[in-house]
Amino acid sequence: MIIQLCYKSRMEKSVLVFIAAPVMGHLAQSVQLAKLMLEKNNQLSVLVLVMKVPIDPEGTIKVQNIISGCSVERLHFHHLPTPENTDNWSSNRGLFMNQLVEFQKPHVRGIASKIEGLSGFILDFGTATSIDVAEEFQVPSYIFCTSGAAYFGLMLHVQSLQDDHNQDTIELFKTSEELIVPSFVQPVPISVLPTATTDKLQWSVRMRRYQYYRKPKGVIMNTFSELEDHALNSFLKDSAYGKSGLPQIYPVGPILNRSEMNLKNHSQISEWLDKQPQNSVVLVSFGSLGSFDLDQVKEIASGLEQSGHRFLWVLRRPPTEKGGFPAEYENVELVLPKGFLDRTASIGKVVGWVPQLAVLSHPAVGGFVSHCGWNSILESIWCGVPIATWPLAAEQQLNAFQLVKELGIAVEISLDYNEAKEHQELVRAEEIGKGVRDLMDGKNEMRKRVKEFSEKSRAAVQENGSSHLCFENLVQTICSGS
Ligand code: UDP
Ligand code: UDP
Repeated sequence: MIIQLCYKSRMEKSVLVFIAAPVMGHLAQSVQLAKLMLEKNNQLSVLVLVMKVPIDPEGTIKVQNIISGCSVERLHFHHLPTPENTDNWSSNRGLFMNQLVEFQKPHVRGIASKIEGLSGFILDFGTATSIDVAEEFQVPSYIFCTSGAAYFGLMLHVQSLQDDHNQDTIELFKTSEELIVPSFVQPVPISVLPTATTDKLQWSVRMRRYQYYRKPKGVIMNTFSELEDHALNSFLKDSAYGKSGLPQIYPVGPILNRSEMNLKNHSQISEWLDKQPQNSVVLVSFGSLGSFDLDQVKEIASGLEQSGHRFLWVLRRPPTEKGGFPAEYENVELVLPKGFLDRTASIGKVVGWVPQLAVLSHPAVGGFVSHCGWNSILESIWCGVPIATWPLAAEQQLNAFQLVKELGIAVEISLDYNEAKEHQELVRAEEIGKGVRDLMDGKNEMRKRVKEFSEKSRAAVQENGSSHLCFENLVQTICSGS
């Protein structure tokens, strides 16, 4: 693999190394970004370094599918070694990933030192601490933020409160109701902050990572200026994010997960969708990691029935190991309320996985109950489909706040958390049914807005669109080595 790459790099002047995060949503975006860069410049080749999560066989299969479905000239993949014994590693997913990134540093160094014509690194924002290795090679590094600009601003802001103003942010979050963040128009309720920024356990590791966000030559963002103009403008204001400056920001999105845009291999889904009236179906899906216990599954089923709307529901069972990946049920009937599949046979379908971008593009789909992962948001916007928000983890609550309150392209499903905010309380069928009805029946204004954003998202990546121009500038800067 490396030998082949050295040979190629003699003809192709520069080699870019991507250090991807081992999560499907992130990896798919990195691969798509790499493809677009290769299209732009035929002197370039890309080596994507892939980390395997040892406890996550299902996730690894999804990652492997993206890689094997991607045969592109000048795009190479290399699997970093899997750590042999992770018994003493953290059971917290965020901390585990951090340990994995640290473990891989010497391996990244070993590979990079063998590459002729190494011209730079592109690091997923989850692997940002690998900049240490990139710096040893004295080539530019760029961070790729696979979530929104507003969230990126929040991370920078929290870190600057801590480092520049000596604020004990954990304490601040305990005693305040809301936080003014430069990347958000409205004050952000403390209750929607990602646990990673408020959680004591992860806090120091996170803060260290956020410091690294200021170090690269540039930050590539999967967003577009027409969607997040406020956040992107906030990065241009002097000292908005504290004393240490910011790198150049490149909003080049939406970069969509094209690995899941084909309905051809999913004939049952496509034949069913083809029979449904336009805009009549609500897609219910919670990303690659979302799953529920049996009580919640039953409430969702009843909620969908109560809503009276057509639905396509992606349902998977929780992972068997902590930190693992949800898998498909062998017999889904066993976890659904008795007779549910028969009663809803004419209006609904329950499946284990959908090619999401293709489904959202189908004219029958008119709404999306979503966990608000950033990819799902961009896909929904691209297709002009409004969302009912049901965030589960990571920065999803913050994204939901942004969609509902700042962008006006979503309705909220009302959720409750236990006092320590460690887990979400059971969401009752009535709330789910109401959320689906609000989404599908009401608010023409919201539907109009999301259609407008859809048009803007497509225009942004067309010739001379905002993201297109920014992308040209980025590739030119990378390839000129300036
Ligand atoms: N494009 C992009 N990022 C992506 C996918 C597409 O910048 O992740 C650009 C692509 O180069 C083209 C435009 O978006 O200029 C439209 O892409 P395509 O025709 O594939 O999308 P469609 O409108 O058919 O969904
Ligand atoms: N996805 C899909 N089919 C599914 C579930 C997810 O194609 O049944 C894709 C989805 O289109 C998106 C990605 O997986 O591109 C999930 O990324 P997102 O950021 O929305 O959420 P995450 O999985 O990272 O929580």
